[in-house]
Amino acid sequence: ASQWSSVPKGPPDAILGISEAFKRDKNPRKVNLGVGAYRDDSGKPVILPSVQKAKSIILETPDHEYLPIDGLNKFTQLATSLAYDNASPLKDHRVASIQSLSGTGALRLGMAFIKRFYPYSGKVYIPNPTWGNHKAIIQHSGLEFIEYTYYDPNTKGLNIEDFLGEIDSAPKNSIFLLHACAHNPTGVDPSQDQWREIQDLMARKQHLAIFDMAYQGFASGDVDKDAFAVRLFANEENPMIVMQSFAKNFGLYGERIGNLSVVCNSSQEVDRVSSQLKILARPMYSNPPIYGSRIVSTILGNPELKNQWLVDVKTMADRIINMRSSLVKLLESKGSLHDWSHIVKQIGMFAYTGLLPENCNELMDKHHIYLTMDGRISMAGLNSKNVEYVAEAIETVTR
Ligand code: PMP
Repeated sequence: ASQWSSVPKGPPDAILGISEAFKRDKNPRKVNLGVGAYRDDSGKPVILPSVQKAKSIILETPDHEYLPIDGLNKFTQLATSLAYDNASPLKDHRVASIQSLSGTGALRLGMAFIKRFYPYSGKVYIPNPTWGNHKAIIQHSGLEFIEYTYYDPNTKGLNIEDFLGEIDSAPKNSIFLLHACAHNPTGVDPSQDQWREIQDLMARKQHLAIFDMAYQGFASGDVDKDAFAVRLFANEENPMIVMQSFAKNFGLYGERIGNLSVVCNSSQEVDRVSSQLKILARPMYSNPPIYGSRIVSTILGNPELKNQWLVDVKTMADRIINMRSSLVKLLESKGSLHDWSHIVKQIGMFAYTGLLPENCNELMDKHHIYLTMDGRISMAGLNSKNVEYVAEAIETVTR
């Protein structure tokens, strides 16, 4: 027997496993609504025009050297100001930032920092439901999670009362993970007034806010609007950490480009926190990849390219918003008697349809439409050629 004969086979990843089943399906009508990656109206992955231009600029000055442990300084500065704008901690140079391996890497490193240094309880409150990887990242970092009430299955909207109640009843200095915008998987975000209530209560309880910001610009099409919560908390001096991903809003999924930022009390504190972030990163991956950080900083650092990028990200957001109304209109015109209006109200990459597991199975088995068993569909997988087919199938399985 080998050393590994007792290794049990683990289950496939809930989301990536669906892509594999999709690939195996030979039916030409098949549709993949499982994975959250943007596709254009012909179902093809997109390289943003701004990214294309930045790549040709970078080509003229090739650089394959190691980055410092905390990444490309120009990148972390521009990325941090994209999130915080001119919020007071950033104006006062009180934000420690480090380039990360996309959003997942920012979350993992941030949790490692919390595990090592947060002086209060290491229990992390996460929304129910949330992105599946949050639980795994928290546990992998040696922390524990507790779910807080977020989504209301009856209204298919936010359960703000219970959410606020649970912020209030959590012990002082608890850690709350919040989706900065485009909550995954529900597409349900607090309104600006609700964010103010959440922030006010979080501040009174001195809770630490952890913002998972994977969709800035992708939700509304407007990067400032999507940063509302982060900037509100920052301006109110709420204790906070922000994990940014540039996978979706720059279409740089495979480049693993992200940013972790910790709001501090003074520039001396920034110095100390930064030194420890580097000490944590070094044995995990030594230093981050250079290419994505060069692309993003080339774009954000050049007013013309940045304007192009703002158009690019809005184009993606608008296509998704249009698909939401097409899908709902088609469901109605096919005679569906259910209320699908939540699909238009939800925001971001996903719609949380309310389809039951048996509906999902039927969609996959009979209609070759792939989605996660919680009824979440990636709106980016819909386009003018397949939306009617999908609407028909959904109408059929929910009749
Ligand atoms: N957080 C949320 C809520 C996400 O949806 C995702 C991507 N699915 C991520 C973080 C991280 O993605 P990545 O590591 O590719 O940046």
